[in-house]
Amino acid sequence: MCEIVLASRGGSAMAAARKAVTYDEVYQFLTKTDCKYATNCSESRKRAIRKFSKNVALVDGVLHYDHRKWISDSKLQGQILNSIHNDSSGGCHFGRDKTRQKIAMRYYWHGMYEDIDEYVRTCVDCQKVRQ
Ligand SMILES: [Zn+2]
Repeated sequence: MCEIVLASRGGSAMAAARKAVTYDEVYQFLTKTDCKYATNCSESRKRAIRKFSKNVALVDGVLHYDHRKWISDSKLQGQILNSIHNDSSGGCHFGRDKTRQKIAMRYYWHGMYEDIDEYVRTCVDCQKVRQ
């Protein structure tokens, strides 16, 4: 009996299959023995989950992708971006490459580089310095 049903995220099945594998999907795949996929999961989606999960490990109950902590919560992603980019110990903000490097050493999430670039590009304090 499978009791876990992931919330529908909308869109067609094709669109869902193309979307990046989610934290919840990988977590379910790695932790459940009898119900490794959501009930409405397509075969292509299952393949994508299996493939992605090869690089994911469960450490202390938290998923790690490629030995880096997988951060799925967007609020937490924002906090990490803020705390690493705004590391004031050096008296200045890190640039894009340094911020990328420092975050990628410890954390992972889908599209993280795009998020970092956007964050650094739009940082109010950095813009003041550039002017
Ligand atoms: Zn900045």
